[in-house]
Amino acid sequence: MAKEQDKFKQVIAHAKEYGYIFSSSEIYDGLSAVYDYGQNGVELKNNIKNYWWRSMVQMHEEIVGLDAAILMHPKTWKASGHVDAFNDPMIDNKDSKKRYRADVLVEDYVEKIEQKAQKEIAKAKKRFGDKFDEAEFVSTHPRVVKYRAQSKEILGRLAKSLTEEDLDDVKALIEELEIACPVSGSRDWTNVKQFNLMFGTKLGASADSASDLYLRPETAQGIFVNFANVQKTGRMKIPFGIAQIGKAFRNEIVARQFIFRQREFEQMEMQYFVRPGDELKWFEHWKEVRTKWHQSLGLGEENYRFHDHEKMAHYANAATDIEFNFPFGFKELEGIHSRTDFDLKAHENLSGKKLQFYDPEMEKSYVPYVIETSIGLDRMFLAVFSSALKEETLEDGSSRTVLKIPSILAPVKAAIFPLLKRDGLPEIAQEIMDDLKWDFNVIYDEKDAVGRRYRRQDAAGTPFCITVDHDTKEDHSVTIRRRDTMEQKRVKITELKSIIQKEIDFRHWLDI
Ligand code: ATP
Repeated sequence: MAKEQDKFKQVIAHAKEYGYIFSSSEIYDGLSAVYDYGQNGVELKNNIKNYWWRSMVQMHEEIVGLDAAILMHPKTWKASGHVDAFNDPMIDNKDSKKRYRADVLVEDYVEKIEQKAQKEIAKAKKRFGDKFDEAEFVSTHPRVVKYRAQSKEILGRLAKSLTEEDLDDVKALIEELEIACPVSGSRDWTNVKQFNLMFGTKLGASADSASDLYLRPETAQGIFVNFANVQKTGRMKIPFGIAQIGKAFRNEIVARQFIFRQREFEQMEMQYFVRPGDELKWFEHWKEVRTKWHQSLGLGEENYRFHDHEKMAHYANAATDIEFNFPFGFKELEGIHSRTDFDLKAHENLSGKKLQFYDPEMEKSYVPYVIETSIGLDRMFLAVFSSALKEETLEDGSSRTVLKIPSILAPVKAAIFPLLKRDGLPEIAQEIMDDLKWDFNVIYDEKDAVGRRYRRQDAAGTPFCITVDHDTKEDHSVTIRRRDTMEQKRVKITELKSIIQKEIDFRHWLDI
């Protein structure tokens, strides 16, 4: 645990030191759970957006994009259920005065039971080696069977009491499990209350309540209210999708995990409209496509797992989370939901406008069903950044800090150095820079010894360093060094573009 916390602290400190993430309005001591992205952060964020957009929109003929406004007609949130049901159950500890999400306290408890089961599995794996049959072990080993049954029972009860809004039972569960406040260790809890997560605001100068608006808590509704506009003007045929990247706002009860849980964040969402009855087939399809997208970036298959929902949101008939192994454990990175026809039907009812598709093959109109893939851009950023940050011991015993961001996502693709600040070397380096900058984000650096410059770029995540030396004047060659292997090679200046291009080729990355 202490090791995990150290790693997390290191991630936060490194993100600041290398211009990735700053606290919002830091000179005024920051604003809780709101962050700014610095000079490298904005590049990484844009590259992640681009990687997602190209894979979803450019690579799918039947998916188109949208950029809807953050402010929407207030009836949108009535229809979607957010006004009545976008709540989290909160609970306060009377001694520490700390506020928690009641469901998260229970889920963390269950995670600890699961860790015990994982320990037994790991022990047995070591003991039996190649002969180990995990499925058999998990279904027969008495302790593992007991742990899994316990978890299932607790999560089942939590899901039931949340669905039935039986908040007294959620509190009873916390008490029965003897869950203590992680800060004070006390078990003196208040009652569980519902808390609506939407941020309210006002339209114009009017004080009347008809002008009450909300900052959107998800981008999805902007897609639903534009369903007919896009379908008709794009002459889209079912199945088809609409993709969008944009800001969302939630007044989160507890926001202590850096950019993982913010009050202002970005989502990358795609709503896929299908024939009623086909939705579970498409749900499986999108689970597969999205898993492949994640694996294409090479963050480590072992760092991902699926978590199927026990408690569905009010609109869903199937839901799974793709979880990532963040520095604080496995947590939701992306949600894939089968949202039925709930949203379109609700908007039809409240607006009185038809949101249907005439299916020529079926010779009838219907309200399509929807599969949603929704990933938090900031969480993806954290997944990439935290898994990339490594402390390595080198052959000579020294160590280096290196940020092994997938090169297609790296903020700066190459740093160009003159070996010395004289003898015409800076001019050649500058010329190379002026040429490469047409195609890539590159930087020039002439300060300090080359070894230190390498280390600086390793820590900043730059995949290539290019050094101009005295021989360059004669042979028009430079030394190119790779961040991950530290391998150095002499190449012609004219080859640089194709070397970098090959490394960040979209097809090479996505087509796995
Ligand atoms: P959680 O259970 O962690 O609160 P959620 O299930 O409410 O998340 P969704 O409503 O499914 O999340 O939103 C889709 C995605 O948006 C999530 O998978 C996550 O990546 C991202 N997301 C949601 N809330 C936040 C937040 N407060 N800060 C950053 N990203 C978020």
